[in-house]
Amino acid sequence: MAEKSFNAFEMAQTQFDKVADMIGLDRASRDLLRFPLREFHFSIPVHMDDGTTKVFRGFRCQHNDARGPAKGGIRFHPQETIDTVRALSMWMTWKTAVADLPLGGGKGGVICDPHNLSMREQEQICRGWVRQVYKNIGPYSDVPAPDVMTNGQHMIWMLDEYEVITGQKQPGLITGKPVGLGGSLGRTEATGFGVVYTLREALKHLNINPEETTAGVQGFGNVAQYAIRKYTELGGKVLCVSCWDQKDQTSYTYTKGQGIDLDELLKITDRFGGIDKAQAKKLGYEVLDGNDWIEQDVDILIPAAIENQITADTVDKIGARVKIIVEGANGPTTPEADAVIQQRGIFLIPDFLANAGGVTCSYFEQVQSNMNYYWTKKEVLEKLDQKMTSAFWDVANLARNRNLYMRDAAYVIAIERVAQASKDRGWI
Ligand code: NAD
Repeated sequence: MAEKSFNAFEMAQTQFDKVADMIGLDRASRDLLRFPLREFHFSIPVHMDDGTTKVFRGFRCQHNDARGPAKGGIRFHPQETIDTVRALSMWMTWKTAVADLPLGGGKGGVICDPHNLSMREQEQICRGWVRQVYKNIGPYSDVPAPDVMTNGQHMIWMLDEYEVITGQKQPGLITGKPVGLGGSLGRTEATGFGVVYTLREALKHLNINPEETTAGVQGFGNVAQYAIRKYTELGGKVLCVSCWDQKDQTSYTYTKGQGIDLDELLKITDRFGGIDKAQAKKLGYEVLDGNDWIEQDVDILIPAAIENQITADTVDKIGARVKIIVEGANGPTTPEADAVIQQRGIFLIPDFLANAGGVTCSYFEQVQSNMNYYWTKKEVLEKLDQKMTSAFWDVANLARNRNLYMRDAAYVIAIERVAQASKDRGWI
């Protein structure tokens, strides 16, 4: 029998239904929030370098914008589907709501593989995407950003096309722009630092001195590197990191006596977050199996690599000492493993709260771009800390008062905020 293929949108709806039941959400709110408010499907014809014309399929979903302009990335992916985009737009609604940003949730995509496209062809896809949807996006309605296989260059092409069409400079249309062309300082650090701002508050909540804690980290890319930097500043010690080895096509865990040295490892790390194994050995690192990060004798686990890493198979390996799991990555924990973590009483900071620093900084970019006035990195990071800290306490206090698991509490807050905004507007 063929295995039922994974459908992200069905999963997002199932998660939503569970919380809707928990809070006794009314029928109309459920009907509204189970689906995107609007979605756009379109064709993007591109004259290819070889003289042929290819037509690409593009999407934009605006799941909900009751709390403010829709916000969310644009992915370029050969396996992109409308259901993936729908699910991601719904998750963006919850993420902006739990962070208490005055934004909604959106997501876009194009079915294409940038590996097989020249820069000129990619530029034509970006410009074509904007031409199809420019009437339905804008600095005060729906603000896209980079996502899988798109970056600052794609954002600038999209912005340029929009400004040519509208005849106005509107840098607030899109975020993820390079610094100097409307981007925000602090974006590189934002997600990893945000992860540790929430961790710092969790340690306070649990009355634990950060200087007496140790952590194990999965991943050594953007999120993990800055999370390690901030956690180390708090006095914590990272005992291991795990990352993917491109050459061996497997992952390894790196440990060293009293703790890893971030700066030393950064010197032997490639731009994809992979560590040079031979050099690490020379520096005295022990190289273990890639999954071993989860069973180290540490107080804190920070999965900051990819999805589906703490699973029914691995969750029982989590050491007895672990008190906190902070999900830097999106979806690192499967529902089966999540149930075990909850039952063991480990304090979990769920992904859409822990890694909301990225979208929070994108919101700051949007604000700065709309003002056309830019803050210093210090200002950005201070504002980020305030937002993340207050988002954490909103969730932690609700979890304590209603005796909820942290993931459920975060969902309850997000869904109640969006349902309330939709009601206040008279939609339902
Ligand atoms: P990245 O590409 O910079 O780094 C990914 C890291 O994961 C690399 O070190 C890679 O070697 C490692 N990795 C990949 N597969 C692995 C495996 N099987 N085992 C161990 N390590 C593995 O990515 P990133 O930007 O740091 O993002 C990490 C996670 O955080 C993703 O889930 C992403 O969706 C999420 N996230 C990122 C941001 C952001 O602003 N960068 C914001 C929100 C959420």
